[in-house]
Amino acid sequence: SKPVVAIVGRPNVGKSTLFNALAGENISIIKDTPGVTRDRIYADVTWLDHAFTLIDTGGIEPDSSDIILSQMREQAQIAIDTADVIIFLVDVRQGLQDADSKVADMLRRSHKPVILVVNKVDSFQKFMADVYEFYNLGIGDPVPVSASSRLGIGDMLDEVVKHF
Ligand code: GDP
Ligand code: MG
Repeated sequence: SKPVVAIVGRPNVGKSTLFNALAGENISIIKDTPGVTRDRIYADVTWLDHAFTLIDTGGIEPDSSDIILSQMREQAQIAIDTADVIIFLVDVRQGLQDADSKVADMLRRSHKPVILVVNKVDSFQKFMADVYEFYNLGIGDPVPVSASSRLGIGDMLDEVVKHF
């Protein structure tokens, strides 16, 4: 069966925007059954000669910070359990947050391939200097993208399919 790629990250980093940019019209399942307690969205994506299933692990996203962290842990666990490659999405405008570091620790311990993707780099000239702090997460080279303007998406997908 096809490789599975999961997008994990804090609320508002742009997971759904990235998912929609990659999924196009190919969104196949919108909602899980009640009791699973979480929306998961799946899409069939192709890049060059590679086909994969993409999952947006974001779901209900409350704004109490301890709930956010526990939900992120849950998302990360879903990704660790089901994905072949994990896209860990962070936000250059918000910078490195404590919750990013905690989830990075979890992902690192899983030994799954993780691509660290830094979103909202709408201008490489303006924001590239702020990308480098994400090296501190210790999960490799940050890949800058702008999900909303599709900058850097091809380079990101090249990194993802290397792990298939
Ligand atoms: P999610 O909660 O992680 O799924 O994040 P969303 O995809 O819902 O995006 C959160 C907000 O960030 C929305 O207002 C998006 O329009 C915005 N956003 C997403 N990607 C980008 C981007 O590349 N650049 C900028 N400037 N804003 C973005
Ligand atoms: Mg979302």
